[in-house]
Amino acid sequence: MLDSLKTYTLNPRAYCDAILEKALSRYAERIGVAFPASVTISSIETKAFWAVGYPVKDGLKLEVTTGALGRIQAVWEQALRLSATLPPEQQIALLGHPDHAVETSFSWLLQHELNHHAIGHFSYLDGMGLAEGKSPYGLGVVQRTGKQRKPKPHGLNERELADLHMCLELQTDHDAIEIVLGAYSAENWPLFRYYATCILVVMFIIEAEERRLDEPLRHHPLAATRLFQLIGHLVELPTIPAIKRAYEEKLDHLPAEYLPTADELVAYRSEVVAPVMATLF
Ligand SMILES: [Zn+2]
Repeated sequence: MLDSLKTYTLNPRAYCDAILEKALSRYAERIGVAFPASVTISSIETKAFWAVGYPVKDGLKLEVTTGALGRIQAVWEQALRLSATLPPEQQIALLGHPDHAVETSFSWLLQHELNHHAIGHFSYLDGMGLAEGKSPYGLGVVQRTGKQRKPKPHGLNERELADLHMCLELQTDHDAIEIVLGAYSAENWPLFRYYATCILVVMFIIEAEERRLDEPLRHHPLAATRLFQLIGHLVELPTIPAIKRAYEEKLDHLPAEYLPTADELVAYRSEVVAPVMATLF
């Protein structure tokens, strides 16, 4: 039904480079400056789901597996099959070909990795990398290079490092969500709903992977926590321009006229937030 994985497999380098390029330009467009490092990406041929980001001398290196894209495509196929059995108003509303939804989910995964770097996570991990899924280098905070095992950053033990990784995940999720959703505009409701659905697909996959691995330590927050942050951001989105404006004007209160009307907020919740939440169930 979908061709994303086929396109990827025919030329993994071109596919990954193109999606990375999109993620980088989205970053620059939203933040207002270019991504602060050069980034390269490699595709690893394996059915396993994992993605790793780690610092290199001249920037950031990403590795993603064909299994990651394969899993995203499989989840989208399943979601669209289920969606087609629902009444029209409850179906997932795509914006374009379903392959675009697969690419957008994949691109959010890359945006997540980029933001680990942009926030500065690697700078205090003593050169170590960060992994989603079980990579050959390990889980969570991973040592990508060097044969000699380095001491853990800041002398943290395995449990502390796994807990730290969970905090980093939530922080990176937040920034990647903000960048992909973009600023509020009443014309963009279908876009917010679509992007949020593309993001939650990746969160579900990472959760399923954690459960499948059944390791003694969790390395990613529960999907419920990550999704709560996503829904929370979606709910707050229409009020953010007003909050920013009041902040810039150094006001100590939020004037009601800066906010969208109550009718607009009610309609936004029923047309954007409610359908995304319905996708969760
Ligand atoms: Zn991560």
